Amino acid sequence: MTWPSPENYRFCPVCAGPLAERLLKPGEPKRLVCTRCGFIFYIDPKLAVLSVVPYQGGVVLVRRAIEPGYGLWVAPGGFVDVGEKVEEAVVRETQEESGLLVVFGPDEIPWGEIAFRSTKEALQEYLNMPGELK
Ligand SMILES: [Zn+2]
Repeated sequence: MTWPSPENYRFCPVCAGPLAERLLKPGEPKRLVCTRCGFIFYIDPKLAVLSVVPYQGGVVLVRRAIEPGYGLWVAPGGFVDVGEKVEEAVVRETQEESGLLVVFGPDEIPWGEIAFRSTKEALQEYLNMPGELK
């Protein structure tokens, strides 16, 4: 299956107004935006990346600044854009994140404050990996 190309979408799924390509954020691809209601039509496969960054014997966590999970901790990550390689997405998302927290061991990870089950599971998998794979 080929992924639908953005130029195939001409009208807003919310109000049927005309869509136009707009650059909303430097470094990201142009998005289709409704010229009538402002709806942003994200065309992406909802594939997510997550980076587990070792740092001084621990891993890097960031505090979420938006919902869902506002104020909770998560490993840096986010959605892969259409046409973007997974490796590029993990680099971009990690760079975009701010408010880094470095923990110095699994005992310092705030397990009860992790925003998403997938993050907790990825961190647990990482910590259970043999040392030569970390
Ligand atoms: Zn609209």
